[in-house]
Amino acid sequence: MIAVHTFKDKHVALFGLGASGLATYQALIAGGATVYAWDDNEHSRAKALEQGIALTDLDKADWNDISSLLLAPGVPLTHPEPHWVVKKAQKAKVEIIGDMELFARERASSMSPAPCIAITGTNGKSTTTALIAHLLKTAGRDVQMGGNIGVPVLQLEPYIEGRIYVLEVSTFQIDLAPSLNPSIGVLLNITPDHIDRHGNFKNYALIKENLILHSDTAIISNDDENCRMIALRRQEKNLSMVSISASNRLEHGIFAGGTALMLARGDRTLKIADIEGVGSLRGRHNAQNVAAAIAVVSLQGVDAATIQSGLDSFPGLEHRMEEIGHLGRTLFINDSKATNADSADKALSSFDKGIFWIVGGKAKEGGIESLTQHFSRVEKAYLIGDAMTEFAFVLEGKIPFELSSTLDMALEHAAIDAVGSKAEQPVVLLSPACASYDQFANFEIRGKRFRDLSFALPGFEPLLLRTKS
Ligand code: ADP
Repeated sequence: MIAVHTFKDKHVALFGLGASGLATYQALIAGGATVYAWDDNEHSRAKALEQGIALTDLDKADWNDISSLLLAPGVPLTHPEPHWVVKKAQKAKVEIIGDMELFARERASSMSPAPCIAITGTNGKSTTTALIAHLLKTAGRDVQMGGNIGVPVLQLEPYIEGRIYVLEVSTFQIDLAPSLNPSIGVLLNITPDHIDRHGNFKNYALIKENLILHSDTAIISNDDENCRMIALRRQEKNLSMVSISASNRLEHGIFAGGTALMLARGDRTLKIADIEGVGSLRGRHNAQNVAAAIAVVSLQGVDAATIQSGLDSFPGLEHRMEEIGHLGRTLFINDSKATNADSADKALSSFDKGIFWIVGGKAKEGGIESLTQHFSRVEKAYLIGDAMTEFAFVLEGKIPFELSSTLDMALEHAAIDAVGSKAEQPVVLLSPACASYDQFANFEIRGKRFRDLSFALPGFEPLLLRTKS
């Protein structure tokens, strides 16, 4: 745990008692603060009590006595409207910050000069964060990875010399961390997402830019207009920056040419690594993540041979294009995290043909119309969940499909069809393009069910169980 000393003897309100809230409580107490902790949710309060946390109803608290409100990133700060606790703090002119801000202040006061790499973007944050941590570990570095992935930032190990922090940061976390100034800030992409929580797209993009503005060095993608504008503004100020791209040949920076990752310096280019055959990094989208990771670790002095060996051994993350094993020639892939068509698009475009596609659940707006261009890659679709009929209308007359209803039935049928097919390398792919909550508590449980069912198939050869690196 990173004890937060910068709030010693202060009285702090803490709202939101999920994993990061509980870690924040312990870190503040360890540093000598008094903490008034609360949550709207009865279950969260009961869990906190079980852990010996004293609760204070912040609705009735004396806000004149409070210096700061520590807000969990899931609680609305501005949109669709400020949460009641936010309004209370604003009325009392109390600053509103999050756990990343506590980390930033602690880093500035007692952890200096702890190297800190912060990764943000609309998509690919977790993959890139895990990959950077993995590459640095492959190079023998002492890495602490956390934030929006795995371990809350304040639960990480305290700083010792040589230790590097690799943090995934969401827009919500950036919004609550005005003094976060990473040694290296990574911006992967900006596309519309969570607009309901940030008011409008411009606001969302501005929050992401904030992280980059405050980074000593920024790694910025050249692949979308918003990121290009941010890069331009940084360039105009002559601030340190490395461009990356998965789709354009750059004059300066790191770009992907096919599966090769190239370093460009003017008219000279140098191949640094290749992701050909790396199952955990399939697809163009992953080339962007890899380019960013290479840019970061190169700045940290990791050489090309070590980078290649780290890429080759990267286990990937659970539920994101996760290879779970084979049945004969057929590869089974768990992409349960693909809860919208955009993500399923990435999965489908990672294979030329031979896909036996399990799709459906609770449909998102727009459904799967946008995936039509990839239908020729699909041998057959297996429809499940609430979206079954809606999707059947989209697929009708385009590709063979069946109404499987449940994941169990879909997997059983897809496995039989794939094994009996003539495809060179058939793929049973769970990439639902839908939320899971019509049939499962969350996408992790859906993915785990897919894995358990696959493992139970006679003759199935599982790949080693992956753990987050
Ligand atoms: P995040 O942490 O930002 O949600 P993840 O690394 O968990 O991102 O990946 C989630 C999904 O987003 C993946 O399954 C894939 O479909 C898609 N994805 C991953 N990386 C990218 C990228 N660089 N650009 C676009 N989409 C991506």
